[in-house]
Amino acid sequence: MGSNREAIEMGVRNAADIICASHQTVVLTGAGISTPSGIPDFRSPDSGLWGNYDPFEVASLSSFRYNPIRFYEWIRTLAGIVIQAQPNQAHYGIASLEELGFVQTVITQNIDGLHQRAGSKNVLQVHGSMESMSCVRCYKNFSAKRFISDYLENGTIPICPDCGGILKPDLVLMGEQMPAQTWLQAQDACKKCDLMIIAGSSLEVLPVAGLPMRALQNGAHLILINYSETYLDARADVVLHEDVAEIIPQIIKQINSERSGRCKR
Ligand SMILES: [Zn+2]
Repeated sequence: MGSNREAIEMGVRNAADIICASHQTVVLTGAGISTPSGIPDFRSPDSGLWGNYDPFEVASLSSFRYNPIRFYEWIRTLAGIVIQAQPNQAHYGIASLEELGFVQTVITQNIDGLHQRAGSKNVLQVHGSMESMSCVRCYKNFSAKRFISDYLENGTIPICPDCGGILKPDLVLMGEQMPAQTWLQAQDACKKCDLMIIAGSSLEVLPVAGLPMRALQNGAHLILINYSETYLDARADVVLHEDVAEIIPQIIKQINSERSGRCKR
């Protein structure tokens, strides 16, 4: 295992060097960054969140409109976990890199809001968010917390205070369009960046999985930190098949030790 540790140390050093030398860095995060916070990957069949539910039956826009009560029954477990979850060292690490000027944009597939709660400012939630809700009738937008708490405690389905329509969490359901403005901003950030860091995404969910290609096409560097292999491992400058919550603090430590020397920002 000694050689593995050396490989990790070398990967961490290389990652720190590339981050220090880059000017426009995008971090793309997926479910793997929130699993250390106790949030299962709800798109995975192994998440334990599906039970007898068919994803396409409950978590699609058409079935939400047809049977919102069943949708809310399904999402109850996930909502209960998300509302209590706390950011982990990977979220805090990325937020501190942004504050230090080493990260310009965070693109996340996660709907848990943990990047913002850790202090990240420029976050693009391409799969939407559980933090807010919109009325399916009048499209007004509301903070989700009160409605979710009320549902978890009393089983009250979230209803629009203005028009009485049903409120839908602002997460992107199966078969639903990505939020257009956010998606355009994400594509733009990927085209402009000179470094992309993938943290906790297996790059399996389209179209987000295609974003790194836009960066690579423009010659950007790629750092991949994910437990399992991805289709871009062979094209990355650094690949670390490790826990992001352990690796990101190590990279930051390395950057901090270099900052007095060649890594200034
Ligand atoms: Zn309404």
